[in-house]
Amino acid sequence: MEERCIENPFLGDISNSSPVTSERTLESLLTKQLHQIHSNVLIDLENDLRHNQPNINDDDTVYTGIAGLCFYYLNKYVKDNNDTQALQTCKEIYNQIITDTNTADNNKRKKKKKRITFLHGVNGLLTIGIILHSIDNNVNDFVNLLNQLQSQCTEIVDNLEDQYPFEILFGKCGYLQCLILIKRYCRTFLNGNVESKNLLDQSIELLIMDIVQNGRDYPYETESPLMYEWHESQYLGGIHGLSGILYMLMCAIESLDLDTAKRIPIDKDIQDSLDFLMGTMLPSGNFPSRPQNKNDRLVQFCHGAPGVIPTLVKAYSYFNKNPKYLDCAIKSSNAIWKHGLLVKGSGICHGISGNAYSFLLIYKESKDPIWLFKTLAFVKLLLTQSFFKLLNTPDNPYSLFEGVGGLAYLLNDLMNLYQSKDAYLPQIQFPSY
Ligand SMILES: [Zn+2]
Repeated sequence: MEERCIENPFLGDISNSSPVTSERTLESLLTKQLHQIHSNVLIDLENDLRHNQPNINDDDTVYTGIAGLCFYYLNKYVKDNNDTQALQTCKEIYNQIITDTNTADNNKRKKKKKRITFLHGVNGLLTIGIILHSIDNNVNDFVNLLNQLQSQCTEIVDNLEDQYPFEILFGKCGYLQCLILIKRYCRTFLNGNVESKNLLDQSIELLIMDIVQNGRDYPYETESPLMYEWHESQYLGGIHGLSGILYMLMCAIESLDLDTAKRIPIDKDIQDSLDFLMGTMLPSGNFPSRPQNKNDRLVQFCHGAPGVIPTLVKAYSYFNKNPKYLDCAIKSSNAIWKHGLLVKGSGICHGISGNAYSFLLIYKESKDPIWLFKTLAFVKLLLTQSFFKLLNTPDNPYSLFEGVGGLAYLLNDLMNLYQSKDAYLPQIQFPSY
């Protein structure tokens, strides 16, 4: 694990039970001075991001492409409705992508495998378009695009050619993620458009039932009531595995008024699957990429503790603040504090910004300033030039999930936290979750 990360220089400063932490109040951590530093960095970062995006032929995804920047500005607006400049920029980027798509090399783009997910598929951009039309109250355009998205649902559920796995990056849960985000971001609009809301709810329910049933019917040996495979392996992490799938199931159920008779047995299976997942924790607090694999190597969102913690924090609020989930998240975060300063870079999926979200999410539920201290410690290092130089340059250095786009997303959350303090906490989610 050591060669994958840089030693945390703050390790000696605190331990979870250190008296130092009680002296670190929210106010002393969220200082005006830090706010100023972060504002300036964010302005520079946004300029860099705007000028260094790939073109539509190369990458149109949220994960590594231009749609990620569009999603960044959309969030910036949604989280601060006064930031109309962010909305304007989001629309400019979206319209540019749509124009470019019409003139793009379609042969090149069509060669890519059928891509149905929010993060890695064409449906990411489609979802952003749907949300933008709801903001502008363009009912016809909203319905038009929503139909394009929903018309895929039956084929995805039936999966006749066996081409869709269940994980988030390429599979059914990545399609479900689109529908969940629309429910969340278009709530007010949907309240006034009941027909669209009902259709959306039907699709979400269809997917929940399909994903749960397939998880129960998993034909190979497992102790988990729900299990899935990606590339013929039982993955556990956030992006290809059980943790991400359980997260999406909880969000999907929460977004519906699901019949109690249906919900109770599903909740039981989710709960027991979470118990199984927690049981795979390694002595360091990290999680293996697969249950059979006891190798304690990867501490990143796609494989390891940073991909399980958002699910545990979600389970804590979903299952009536059952403390076992938050306790497990806290224990697991030790691995990130020790080994989470990845040389892979600053990204969300396998980088330091994504890892810092584990601390921020624990802060969201516990409100203990130590978690904010840990988040800010990682950010402080990322903003230190001599430290940043030690990091490798990712394949997509300006992207949301691999590059500095992830850092901008994190800084934006922190700036809003400075301004609105704990009132902002409900808005904090792992990016796109
Ligand atoms: Zn990754």
